Amino acid sequence: MTIQIILKSGREKSVKNRHPWVFSGAIQRVVGQPANGDTVDVVDNRQNFLARGIYNEQSQIQVRLFTWQPDEMIDPHFWRQRLQRAIAGRQALWQSDTTAYRLVHSEADGLSGLIVDRYGSWLVVQFLSLAVERHRQAIITALAELLEPHGIYERSDVETRKKEGLPLKNGLIMGEMPPDWIEISENKHLFLVDVKGGHKTGFYLDQRENRQKSTLYFSVAEVLNVFAYTGAFAVYAAKAGAERVVQVDSSAQVLETAKQTMQLNGLVGRDDSYIVADAFELLRTYYRQGQQFEVVILDPPKFVQHKGQLEKATRGYKDINMLGMKLLRPGGVLISFSCSGLVSADLFQKVLFGAAVDAGREVQIIEQFSQSSDHPILLTCPESAYLKGLVCRVW
Ligand code: SAH
Repeated sequence: MTIQIILKSGREKSVKNRHPWVFSGAIQRVVGQPANGDTVDVVDNRQNFLARGIYNEQSQIQVRLFTWQPDEMIDPHFWRQRLQRAIAGRQALWQSDTTAYRLVHSEADGLSGLIVDRYGSWLVVQFLSLAVERHRQAIITALAELLEPHGIYERSDVETRKKEGLPLKNGLIMGEMPPDWIEISENKHLFLVDVKGGHKTGFYLDQRENRQKSTLYFSVAEVLNVFAYTGAFAVYAAKAGAERVVQVDSSAQVLETAKQTMQLNGLVGRDDSYIVADAFELLRTYYRQGQQFEVVILDPPKFVQHKGQLEKATRGYKDINMLGMKLLRPGGVLISFSCSGLVSADLFQKVLFGAAVDAGREVQIIEQFSQSSDHPILLTCPESAYLKGLVCRVW
């Protein structure tokens, strides 16, 4: 028998608008006794079909919706078709010089909770919802058939799994174990990726197009790359003509990879620096010392995990941007990012406004960045937009 989730009257709008999440507060009644992971139909209070999804009582998102068509079943054929569609959307990337990118971007690809990234011959997957975890076998089988990778590695070691009642996992699912370092090519630049232990699935793929667009600003004497990770922005900067790049990160290990990556790209005999430090403290010290740069890149980690952190995080963004502005020579360029989904583009711009006022500098926005096109934003799910970048000329 079909299990029905009956919505409270007036709460069907977001479902009709194809938002893929149903929160517990919108549910009036459950007909039947669904187990977590079961497929359910979401209906209005007159029992008209609205959408079909997967139930999880342990999560605030009690139903994740996957189809709005009454005759579409959530079976192996369904997963295969959705994956095929996502892969087709990255056709241009398959034919490019870039060998690492996102193939499946969760909600934005109609696959709530599923991430699939390609790194050369390997796929790295994250099952971040019980819904996709429950159907993992069908998903893995379809990925193996459609893409024939050397191996599929799982990086479900993400805290958000706990909100779904799932344990953290990290390990090989299928095929050959990836090497400790997978060498990938991104716009003809080479990078070393640790898919087993690196951040996210190993690399910040969402910044690929922003790194490429930033090359416009990089033929200068000195670039400060703050929150450098493995130095991807620095390779683009050095290749585009930056004479010296100063890379800053709190982790010595990632900066070691950043150094090797420069060599891997033939960028040797240079005067670059690798500074292990807290960015906030170091930028303050540089300011006191009167150090100046032509370009400052700020790509901090996600400061806001939940709404309660928004105020503190906003202060953090303002502080680091004010310092970044102060370190620029007049006419220099600040390339500043926020990857916190809860910080809207509008709020981010306001934060930079506050920073400019406090820095006493005149600041023009000359370009606006978003996440790369392999991380699409679904119109009906605005939460799928998270990365914002502002390129500013600072006088
Ligand atoms: N720009 C990078 C990604 C940056 S990720 C790229 O394109 O690949 C954010 C980085 O900030 C991480 O490497 C993390 O180690 C570093 N980090 C986090 N907090 C920091 C702090 N307070 N000071 C300096 N680095 C920090």
